[in-house]
Amino acid sequence: MKKEKEPMFRFDNTYARLPEKFYARVTPAKVPKPELIKWNTELAGQLGAQAESPPDMELAEVFTGQKLLPGSEPIALVYAGHQFGHFVHQLGDGRALLMGEVVDPAGRRHDIQLKGSGRTPFSRGGDGKAPLGPVLREYLVSEALHHLGLSTTRSLAAATTGELVYRDSVLPGAILTRVASSHIRVGTFEYFAAQQDLENLKRLTEYSIKRHYPEIKNDSEAHLSFFRKVGHAQVELVTSWMALGFIHGVMNTDNTSIAGETIDFGPCAFMDQFHFNQVFSSIDQFGRYSYSNQAQITLWNLSRLGECLALLTDHGSKEAVEMLNKELESLGALFEQRLASKMAKKLGILKDVQPQDMDLVSQWLRYLETQQLDYTLSFRDLANLVENDADFNFFDRTSTFQDFYQLWQKRVQNQDLESETIKEEMNRVNPVFIARNHKIEQVIEAGLKGDFSLFHEMSEVLKKPYEEQEEFSSYKLAPRPEEVVQATFCGT
Ligand code: AMP
Ligand code: MG
Repeated sequence: MKKEKEPMFRFDNTYARLPEKFYARVTPAKVPKPELIKWNTELAGQLGAQAESPPDMELAEVFTGQKLLPGSEPIALVYAGHQFGHFVHQLGDGRALLMGEVVDPAGRRHDIQLKGSGRTPFSRGGDGKAPLGPVLREYLVSEALHHLGLSTTRSLAAATTGELVYRDSVLPGAILTRVASSHIRVGTFEYFAAQQDLENLKRLTEYSIKRHYPEIKNDSEAHLSFFRKVGHAQVELVTSWMALGFIHGVMNTDNTSIAGETIDFGPCAFMDQFHFNQVFSSIDQFGRYSYSNQAQITLWNLSRLGECLALLTDHGSKEAVEMLNKELESLGALFEQRLASKMAKKLGILKDVQPQDMDLVSQWLRYLETQQLDYTLSFRDLANLVENDADFNFFDRTSTFQDFYQLWQKRVQNQDLESETIKEEMNRVNPVFIARNHKIEQVIEAGLKGDFSLFHEMSEVLKKPYEEQEEFSSYKLAPRPEEVVQATFCGT
């Protein structure tokens, strides 16, 4: 008898077993000419994909939704959210669908989602499609963050559809396959809370705890423990963004994952020159989601989650709100502490981080800002000065720099550690390669002409962000003045 072909994934779709109010069943749109740009073999392996190396044509058909894998149950998830501070009672997957969930060999559950796969009941005025540019951008930036060591959704595949998408100009259409530990957002809680649908709000909370934080399941105040867990995950995430000079760009509550993953890459960017108030997004006119505001916005988003969870308590809302507020206060303190520790480490302060170390960090950042220096490269250059303070030309010896330098040398040398160790530790947290905006633009420009060689090259370089890769030094350099990207666009 002929042996049945192993399915690529064994789906186990728990979200699709929740009541129908949580999603809509959808069918991916037909597209004229699916073609694979990229298949992330390494990630497929980690997910436990069975097929060894399926032909590109088959991958293109599956990951543009033309061919449904056995066990896949495509659904579009509903959620609400605060967008730039304003509540929208229904958003949802307007151009995405969840193919299904897979459990990897280590027992971790992942959503596999197609983004750009056509209209859904939540598309509102949109066409449900994605142009090529944002697909390439999300692929590169999400994978870059992963290899930099951050928590993020990932990219399993990218394919073109052979279709044209109409935006300000006419662009090739594409679909990204995204992998997330779930797509539950603060906005998913807000959706049920706004409708006063306490039964489903409770169901969602229980589901989220079981899926993401099973260790708190039996806590007496599980909703409070849940709030703390989501809070910690968000604090860890956003402080890591800030340490890397990453700006998400659209920190709306519908883009805030309760698993603490970076999600919904729109007009995001890594900073080149350091500016406390840097904004890239063309739609962020008032700088709500600027580099330094990300701290405060994290807490703002968490308070929206807290308001939803307060509805679930039977202690009377006043007491519940007080408890959640207390929790929020400690999350604020935790944010400062985690950011201080990460920034101190970037400066080579590895032991007994003290509050006054933040003065040193601020002094350094002010120097970078006034001198308009590149954030990423400056930390690498500074690491070279731990061992050798004799003669250097990386930095202008302004009085601000001299003041900083003397204090910094004294502080790092006082740790009873070898200079070499300090330098190595700094280089372990200060990358050489980030997904620089101007390089992404060059990749997209070539991609629009059908040439994906730069895209493939850049994906490879970003796999080893902390290693000097001499042959790829062009990806390391800051943009020349004419290459600087002033604004990034959602591009949806
Ligand atoms: P985003 O800004 O990407 O987080 O998306 C905000 C909301 O707009 C989500 O509900 C998306 O699903 C929806 N959306 C964005 N682009 C499109 C599109 N091209 N077609 C339909 N819905 C979209
Ligand atoms: Mg979104």
